[in-house]
Amino acid sequence: MLVRHIRPRRSSSAAGPFVISAHASGALFQAGHAGGVRAGRTQCQNANMPGTLYIVSTPIGNLEDITQRALRVLREVDLIACEDTRHTRKLLNHFSIDTRTISYHEHNERERAEELSKLLEEGKSIALVSDAGTPLISDPGFRLVNLAGAKGFPIVPVPGATAFVAALAASGLASDQVLFAGFLPARTAARRAKLEELRDSPATLIFYEAPHRIAAALRDAVDVLGDRPAVIARELTKIHEEFVRGRLRELADKFSQQVGRGEMVLIIGTGQSDHAVQDSSTVAGTLGERIRALEAEGADAKTALKKAARELGLKRDEAYRIRESQKNRRSR
Ligand code: SAM
Repeated sequence: MLVRHIRPRRSSSAAGPFVISAHASGALFQAGHAGGVRAGRTQCQNANMPGTLYIVSTPIGNLEDITQRALRVLREVDLIACEDTRHTRKLLNHFSIDTRTISYHEHNERERAEELSKLLEEGKSIALVSDAGTPLISDPGFRLVNLAGAKGFPIVPVPGATAFVAALAASGLASDQVLFAGFLPARTAARRAKLEELRDSPATLIFYEAPHRIAAALRDAVDVLGDRPAVIARELTKIHEEFVRGRLRELADKFSQQVGRGEMVLIIGTGQSDHAVQDSSTVAGTLGERIRALEAEGADAKTALKKAARELGLKRDEAYRIRESQKNRRSR
């Protein structure tokens, strides 16, 4: 059966009517996430179907980092909800996209989430963007996504740049377990309390930080966490992109002598060496797998642990410790 795809008319009105146009291939236009944009409805769908909320990542500096899919979604939706409409308009103009925009920021999130949810209910498709990177990652969007989720509306992520992922990927610090903690509190006491809360985490810690606070944050981090390996990823994807690697104390000294500039991500390694962290998690994985296999063959838990430890050249109490911490990690 040939199903025609109903595309939203390029209209300046968010509530504008739909017009019917044949889908290019004439094929059934399914709601597959990897496929075409789901703006609008198909004739076979119920007229009361809600619209889709797209969570669209935009570049964190380099405009080439926007995806083809993001551009298509931004072009085809009925409305783009942006943190700052003037900022996003520049991006849209660069790509000759004239979709209507509406502001959605931390000061109007509550009311706007309700309004946008009503539009979704009426079948309008909406793309949510922030000023840079992925919405909801230290950016507005939670209320809208939460509300849309509670109402059962389709929510489709359109992934792309996120500063902390790019920073981690090039940091050289252990990436098997990471804890992204957003911005550290601005006040010293609260910042130190937050760092204390994270001190015993076995994960690599990642923070966003403002340039005028980086020196203070580094000083508190050395005091609370000790002199761990760390990386500051600055101005990612931009002309002055820079990775400053070292120990926390070195970085604290360096940044106390110069004013921090640009956007930055602070990544702090664990107390152990990065190889040890990566290696120990590999051993834990292998140990777990072997124990499960032996248990499947009929061995009881104690025998399986003993045998797996022997096979992997581990002492029994060492294997026991690894196994327990693996279980604790999973139940966290
Ligand atoms: N939603 C964004 C994301 O997906 O990464 C983050 C928005 S948050 C309000 C802004 C913070 O992200 C900046 O203060 C900085 O810590 C970090 N950031 C954003 N762009 C960056 C870049 N190009 N280089 C380094 N850090 C960046």
